[in-house]
Amino acid sequence: MIRENLEAVEKNIQEACQRAGRDRKDVTLIAVSKTKPLSDLMEAYEAGARVFGENKVQELVEKMPQMPDDVHWHMIGHLQKNKVKYIVGKVDLIHSVDNTGLLEEINKRAEKAGVKQDILIEVNIADEDTKYGVRADEAEEFYVNAMSFPYVNVRGLMCIAPNVENPELNRQYFVKLKKIYVDIMNRIGHNSRVDVMSMGMTGDYQVAIEEGATMVRVGTGIFGARNYNSE
Ligand SMILES: *Cc1c(COP(=O)(O)O)cnc(C)c1O
Repeated sequence: MIRENLEAVEKNIQEACQRAGRDRKDVTLIAVSKTKPLSDLMEAYEAGARVFGENKVQELVEKMPQMPDDVHWHMIGHLQKNKVKYIVGKVDLIHSVDNTGLLEEINKRAEKAGVKQDILIEVNIADEDTKYGVRADEAEEFYVNAMSFPYVNVRGLMCIAPNVENPELNRQYFVKLKKIYVDIMNRIGHNSRVDVMSMGMTGDYQVAIEEGATMVRVGTGIFGARNYNSE
């Protein structure tokens, strides 16, 4: 089933790119494998998935050594400062940076590890109490400040849009994130190292691609529904 799901998602991505006049190569699909067993990840791997996203540090570091070496890992979930040391230098990208303390810790651990860590700034794009992320109207200042940390590469922005039935309702938020992104680009000067807009999940990734997403994070659409009660 996972192979068929992945093929369907791939087709949807291609069609969304076509509608938007975009190149398929400019959109990275992140297979969000949280809560799923290794056998499911391997099935996705064998069907071609190479980029996996997890939202818990412990689960991420457990799965990482058990998957083939050419897998790229992304930390997409809320990150606590005390867990930073376990993932810096090991994940390609941390999507969820939204406070200065976390930035300082990532910078410190990256210096120690002798790496520059790629990160995104998470924006609470619909200003929801239940979500993490910097406020939309503070995102640009936060972003520019984050660029001053020498062992951190700020690559772009991430958002989690509201959970809605009709994905069209989220188009406004993807447009809003894109505007913040363009404002930042205009301020800092267009820079080939700033190239990521991580937005769109199972319910709304096609709309997100139409509005400029360069990374979509798809879990349920590939692996099926998650069961949080099994443990
Ligand atoms: C779980 C999760 C996803 C994937 O959600 P689906 O709706 O299952 O595609 C995407 N992004 C983040 C940050 C997540 O935690």
